Amino acid sequence: MSLAPGTARADAAVVSPEPKDGRHHVVVIGAGFGGLHLVHRLSGAGVRVTLIDQRNHHLFQPLLYQVATTILATSEIAWPIRRLFRDRKEVSTLLARVVGVDTARRVVELEDGDSVGYDTLVVATGARHAYFGHDEWETVAPGLKTLEDATTIRRRLLLAFERAEREPDPAKREALLTFGVIGAGPTGVELAGIIAELAKQTLWQEFRNIDTRKARVMLIEAGPRVLAAFPEDLSTYAAEALKKRGVELRLGQPVSDCTGEGLRIGDEFIPCRTSVWAAGVAASPAAGWLGVEGDRAGRVPVRPDLTLADRPEIFVIGDTAAVKAPDGGPVPGIAPAAKQQGEYVARLIRARLAGERAPEPFHYRHQGNLATIGKGAAVVHMGRLRLRGGLAWWVWGIAHIFFLIGTRSRAAVAWSWLWSYLTGQHSARLITQGSQLNRKN
Ligand SMILES: Cc1cc2nc3c(=O)[nH]c(=O)nc-3n(C[C@H](O)[C@H](O)[C@H](O)COP(=O)(O)OP(=O)(O)OC[C@H]3O[C@@H](n4cnc5c(N)ncnc54)[C@H](O)[C@@H]3O)c2cc1C
Repeated sequence: MSLAPGTARADAAVVSPEPKDGRHHVVVIGAGFGGLHLVHRLSGAGVRVTLIDQRNHHLFQPLLYQVATTILATSEIAWPIRRLFRDRKEVSTLLARVVGVDTARRVVELEDGDSVGYDTLVVATGARHAYFGHDEWETVAPGLKTLEDATTIRRRLLLAFERAEREPDPAKREALLTFGVIGAGPTGVELAGIIAELAKQTLWQEFRNIDTRKARVMLIEAGPRVLAAFPEDLSTYAAEALKKRGVELRLGQPVSDCTGEGLRIGDEFIPCRTSVWAAGVAASPAAGWLGVEGDRAGRVPVRPDLTLADRPEIFVIGDTAAVKAPDGGPVPGIAPAAKQQGEYVARLIRARLAGERAPEPFHYRHQGNLATIGKGAAVVHMGRLRLRGGLAWWVWGIAHIFFLIGTRSRAAVAWSWLWSYLTGQHSARLITQGSQLNRKN
């Protein structure tokens, strides 16, 4: 199918960053992995692109936990979107929050009341935390999704040690030195491993009234094992490596309550002042914008070519889309999947505009799973290749450096890691947004 350019209705109160010039206008919502990759792949396609994001930066989420745990600085894993497309004159970047889509008028509605008309729309708005019906837990146990989340967690971790140093009551001190990570997928495992390293290797010489090595770091998981997406032997290795680092594993029982005072697991209440949520995600609210019913995780069901049913001009990709993998299961919510979908949609748009046959339906190629547990310990599962330990850690590190944007970031992250590896020190141990010692968070 080919689309006529400029089919967005002219009577809409449409803010367009450039005057209409007859070129087909592709609007992309979300400059995450999917959206960014798509726009890169549309280079030279002869279309006009408007990329809308509520943040001014693209974020490399896989390393967010390192900002939260003081290893990396925020600027090492985020890049201004505008700068990324400075040489692409046909790409306009809008800093705006999308609140709806009028599919009949073909306009995207922005929070400030403006709207943007499109010929083709690509929704790539990712996912957010899910608290399984307990949204009130979010203030107590923040999830990790944005730079703000990471600096909030970093602040809470560091403040817990500062408060413990001044706390005369032993029971309260113990609660301050107890850290709970909820959810033992890759993010939970990575967080728990590094929090334990921070307490037991990085900070212990610097405090006078507390022994940070006695801090209790708990990793709590409702399922029977950590890293459930990995083969059992790698999951067992990860569990042992965590225990060696002093992480206490609480498997097989979900958290049933979560307050500023502590966590309840089954019948047991554990005083714990700092918790982090790494247990669940739900898609962005795009299903509501598009007037369709999302799946259980709120993802938008799409056709095999990633378009919305009866709306060939609308694509949904990445963590927001419910797509089937070749084995019949869902395509996982990971960066390579979002990138592959962005690449596929770019090919499809090009084919449509050229009047060529559409490419075959989207086919997800799983490249593997990687997770790190801490310094010198990781697991890698790529097809028949299974690695654990030091070699896996190097593979993990090199893969992540490779996927960062630009030489400067790669060099900065490599240097921060080398420094941390050689000295045991973390270079981003900053309490920002006020020290707020008298507050609970
Ligand atoms: C802590 C963490 C660790 C992870 N680790 C890994 C890993 O190791 N390996 C891996 O492969 N994957 C990992 N992932 C998953 C991976 O980051 C996601 O699968 C990937 O980012 C999905 O890409 P996306 O383009 O769908 O969405 P995202 O990359 O999340 O991008 C969505 C974009 O949409 C924007 N947006 C959202 N709503 C609106 C709105 N209303 N208006 C305007 N803009 C909006 C957001 O600001 C964001 O820029 C991790 C995720 C997290 C949170």
